[in-house]
Amino acid sequence: MKKVLIANRGEIALRIIRACMELNIPTVVVHSEADTDSLPVKLADESICIGPAPSVKSYLNMRAILSAATLSGADSIHPGYGFLAENPLFADMCEQHNFNFIGPSASAIAKMGDKSVAKSIVKESGVPVVPGSDGPVFSIQQAYEIADEIGYPVIIKAVAGGGGRGMRVVYEKEELEKNYATAQNEALSAFKDSSVYIEKYFINPKHIEIQIIADSYGNTIYLGERDCSAQRRHQKLLEECPSPVVNKELRKKMGDAAVNAAKGVGYENAGTIEFLLDKDGSFYFIEMNTRIQVEHPVTEMVTGIDLLKEQLKIAMGEKLEIKQSDIKLNGHSIECRINAEDPYRNFTPTPGPITWLHLPGGPGIRVDTHIYAGYSVPSFYDSLLAKVISFGHDRDEAIKRMERGLNEMIINGLPQGGVKTTIPLHLALLKHPVFKEGKVDTGFIGRTDILGQE
Ligand code: ADP
Repeated sequence: MKKVLIANRGEIALRIIRACMELNIPTVVVHSEADTDSLPVKLADESICIGPAPSVKSYLNMRAILSAATLSGADSIHPGYGFLAENPLFADMCEQHNFNFIGPSASAIAKMGDKSVAKSIVKESGVPVVPGSDGPVFSIQQAYEIADEIGYPVIIKAVAGGGGRGMRVVYEKEELEKNYATAQNEALSAFKDSSVYIEKYFINPKHIEIQIIADSYGNTIYLGERDCSAQRRHQKLLEECPSPVVNKELRKKMGDAAVNAAKGVGYENAGTIEFLLDKDGSFYFIEMNTRIQVEHPVTEMVTGIDLLKEQLKIAMGEKLEIKQSDIKLNGHSIECRINAEDPYRNFTPTPGPITWLHLPGGPGIRVDTHIYAGYSVPSFYDSLLAKVISFGHDRDEAIKRMERGLNEMIINGLPQGGVKTTIPLHLALLKHPVFKEGKVDTGFIGRTDILGQE
């Protein structure tokens, strides 16, 4: 690999730079005018401004990114997560222009990107999927038929959905028609595609996902699970590995299913198969993310495998050096997503200057962040400020270390405020008895006044 162009920003851009540095691969990062003073821009070997702050004009501008790649002499492109990471057209354009796209093929992205197509492919590989429509639902009559067949409650989802958006839960038949129309409108405005599909809505399941890596020689392995059940409005807040509810036997079953699902689309590079785990221990595929994920560090901590370096090595055509039997989960890791949002004001985004910053440290604490004292958080992008990742010999130690780390962390710290963060929510969750018992399900945060307990 001659040079990697990083088509992203924030902490993940930095994470890619770090992996490239360790492999002695030069980097060039593209950025918007709003990110001129960002840490990735300061730390990459080169940087190129590709447009104004709004992402459609910069981080989503494929032509500008490919021109920057040509100009800088890069031969490979890492898309990170979000933005163009799961855009099959972009992966295809990279291939067409002879750039090495660090990720799966455009065809694998396209198949898994349409969530209803993905479900049928995965079902054919013998993996259990959430019961529901085979493909998109085209009329309200069809919607009624499917909902009657699978039983209420049902969830209507955008086929192009992502990021916890474009979903509507319907508890009774009378609510179906209205929600079907709203879901289509929301899907159209959020994803420029009004297609929706329907599936059974599980009450308070757990979200368990399996990390896989696959090389171009047909070797696919799974690297344990992540429990991402701590969610607010279907968006993940805290993730951990291993899951407190997954035993060896279930891990193997889910791992084998994930490998089969990936093989079903000829998947290459790192990816994640997401499942819902029901109270009776049965699990069902919901979707595959065809990219590196925000929560990948907990897997790295527990398996000792650097997923970003693996992504780069696979893209360079190297064979996986690790076999399934080499994968051992050691200890426990938790990640808290620290967002620039005020949890006491309905999670309103709080962009602005960071005047004072103290990051936590000590044994078993890793912080992946692009913020620094003097940095100003722009209002144009997502609100992720930092990921605090703890590691311990067991879950109790990982929780204790996380509590210590978050209590040490200071962002601003002046009474007049500025950037508020989700740290108080995490601290309250970590000491909640339901979390301590490992019993958090995907609906727990929504139905519990966690901050109110104090
Ligand atoms: P996205 O691609 O937007 O992240 P997902 O399909 O991965 O959407 O679902 C995100 C979250 O929504 C899940 O982790 C879970 O909490 C909830 N969810 C999705 N499908 C269902 C379902 N069928 N039943 C219950 N909860 C669901």
